Amino acid sequence: MKKFILMNADIWTGSPRQPGAEALVAEDGRIVHIGTSAEIAAEIAPGDEVLDAKGRRVVPGFIDTHVHFTLTGLGHLVINLDGVDSLQAVQERLRLHHERYPGDSLLLALNFQPELNPQKRFPTPEELDVACGGRPVYVMDRSAHWSAVNRAAFALLDMPADTPGVLRDEAGQFTGVLTDQANTAALEQFWQLFSRQVGLKTAIQKASHEAVRGGITTVHALEEWPSVPTLLSYEPVLPVSLVIYSQTRKVSAVCEAGLRQIGGCGSVMLDGDFSPHTAALLEPYTDAPHQHGTLYYEDNELYEYILQAHLNGLQVALHSVGSAAIEQLLRAYERVLREHPRKDHRHRIEHFELPAPGHAERAKKLGLCLALQPAFNHFWPHHGEYPSVIGPDRARMVDPLGSLVKEGLTVAIGSDSPVTPMNPMLSIHSAVNHSNPSERVDVETALRLATQAGAYLAFEEGIKGTLEVGKRADLVVLSEDPLQVAPERLREIEVLWTVNQGNIVYTAGEGE
Ligand SMILES: [Zn+2]
Ligand SMILES: [Zn+2]
Repeated sequence: MKKFILMNADIWTGSPRQPGAEALVAEDGRIVHIGTSAEIAAEIAPGDEVLDAKGRRVVPGFIDTHVHFTLTGLGHLVINLDGVDSLQAVQERLRLHHERYPGDSLLLALNFQPELNPQKRFPTPEELDVACGGRPVYVMDRSAHWSAVNRAAFALLDMPADTPGVLRDEAGQFTGVLTDQANTAALEQFWQLFSRQVGLKTAIQKASHEAVRGGITTVHALEEWPSVPTLLSYEPVLPVSLVIYSQTRKVSAVCEAGLRQIGGCGSVMLDGDFSPHTAALLEPYTDAPHQHGTLYYEDNELYEYILQAHLNGLQVALHSVGSAAIEQLLRAYERVLREHPRKDHRHRIEHFELPAPGHAERAKKLGLCLALQPAFNHFWPHHGEYPSVIGPDRARMVDPLGSLVKEGLTVAIGSDSPVTPMNPMLSIHSAVNHSNPSERVDVETALRLATQAGAYLAFEEGIKGTLEVGKRADLVVLSEDPLQVAPERLREIEVLWTVNQGNIVYTAGEGE
């Protein structure tokens, strides 16, 4: 029997029965005693692993409810265009990478944001060729909802040139920019090609390290189907626990694999995102009055998909960003649950970024769970580019975290990594400091959304989410107390140790 003991801590347990404590004992990963340091000291025996928290704040291990796990790992092995604000600088990054890793394999560049460069556009196929000598290059937008390729990369794709979303200029010429179906297919195909190039195992290890460094002990991993068997085989030896949501419409394959969850973004999402004008809106875009965005499902197709998953006892989670996508998903859930009521289904809506009036109430009535990503508001505040795209009134209503919590909906938070980093303290910071003051939540609420609410979203509240006897010893030691620091400094708090089931899986300052 393996014993783990935490001493001299200032524990926020998250449990109303015993909100605070100083120390705990875990046996085989489960908490058996929680109390004062004096009480627990008496239980220490030679050979026990003892972690002295030196009076620091300890909280339950964070649960990130929305992560594209292998994609995040691959992101560590690619060119990162985070914050790059000119097309010349993009070319420079690509050229350096091409020189450092010469060859003709696919180059993948992530986190590009066209709104940051003065021309507000993607690099052209010709500009990509100049940077990398004609080698295939794929440049993905930070949101993952649009991207750019050169001709060599496009030629690698199994994709007809007339696929919806292959954008052409006024003269009908190939621009290299992909949205809609073309973008989704390119992402899936390039991702598979790239993971063969670099090895999925390396990517999974990189993602695991990023998770535990952020204090995450459980990740809800939303994965394209080809990576699911690999993840399942590695999961037992990873420092972080996974709950896998398969991004596939093959309900029977998910059931046969013994999984209980289906859905996500990528190939199963309902719509896109605001900046590429693919988020589906009930009212048109402000800067494009003839565009309402894109719905990727017919009503009946969505109903059939959810129905099959529901009848097979699966929990469904689906990306819906814009008001028209949320409307369509609510209608499908309403119909399925009316025809086949099931208690405690906990079906989810991912993002829920721009609901229309009445949507929250309908979601609550259906008992739906909402998975939000507060750091979206950190990177795309409501006063940033949104007012020009969807107008100031709707921009103010994007990511309505505070309202949803106030209205009593079941909400949990996550990162949508690699869209935003797997960094729960940044998510908590963003939730507390929302750019729209009426959507802020207090620190304690944010902590709950990042811990016990996440456990609930995956039916794991009996074993995770709070620190109580019988639950897993999943916990984090923080450099400072989030309940004491000034709200604007929350994101500066560091994770000193991460413990998963009584095992220290991360210690600050120690390398990978
Ligand atoms: Zn999504
Ligand atoms: Zn996502």
